[in-house]
Amino acid sequence: MADRRRRERLQHVLRGWNAFERRLQGRPIQWVLTDFDGTLAPIRRHPDQAGLSGASRAALQRLMRDVGVSVAIVSGRSISQLRALVRLPGAVYIGNHGLEMSGPSVRFVHPGARRARPVLRRIAGQLRRALRDVPGSLVEDKGLSLSVHWRRVRPSDVEQFYRKLKNVLAPWVRRRAVRVARGKRVVEIRPPVVWHKGSAVEWLMKRSGSSKSLVIMFGDDRTDEDAFRAVNRCFGISVYVGRRPGGTAARWRLDGPREVRVTLQRLWGHGHGHTG
Ligand SMILES: [Mg+2]
Repeated sequence: MADRRRRERLQHVLRGWNAFERRLQGRPIQWVLTDFDGTLAPIRRHPDQAGLSGASRAALQRLMRDVGVSVAIVSGRSISQLRALVRLPGAVYIGNHGLEMSGPSVRFVHPGARRARPVLRRIAGQLRRALRDVPGSLVEDKGLSLSVHWRRVRPSDVEQFYRKLKNVLAPWVRRRAVRVARGKRVVEIRPPVVWHKGSAVEWLMKRSGSSKSLVIMFGDDRTDEDAFRAVNRCFGISVYVGRRPGGTAARWRLDGPREVRVTLQRLWGHGHGHTG
């Protein structure tokens, strides 16, 4: 019920397309920022199975080529993984929740994250040993952070999973050697730095001097909320993707990755109308 009320407060981009186009105010779109999993591509049971559909890739490519939009993919995944999944030359990749960025004339690794690397590697080893007998759990070392997935853990094993995870992490958290955050059926272990997707987006916007032109951000997860707030602050457009927008900072919404693709295609038409 509460979810439905919140959903109604957010305007649906496609169902309110005229209002959305008015919101663009004829300003050129400079950046399309988008999360990957659950936003550009549907969430799969195994993280390696996720891939970008040809239609979504083509929609992004055409925005870059024909409308002069810069595209940045903002994700919790590592950049190397993102590159392989997205395969979009000329895009900026923002990986590890903003700790690393790479693209045309952008190269960034957060220094605090670099320093925390050896500790994370040790924790990854400890977690793999501790979770060996919890079937379906998966410890993923993403270089600058770790993801512990439990999407495939049996419901009856989830309690055991969390107990073992906590045993390993508690001493490290007490020492403030890492920070722990929850995502969708994943626990993220990150360096103890205050830096998130929103910080990365702000850094990128400042660098590219985007104050006059428009930024649009699509995202579906809690970690995207920081980026929504950053985009709202620079008068951009924030779009929540999904059916449970409880307490999102976004101002607009879409139901899922398919609708994100349709929106990207319409933005191409919109940009074309204005430039051609
Ligand atoms: Mg996501």
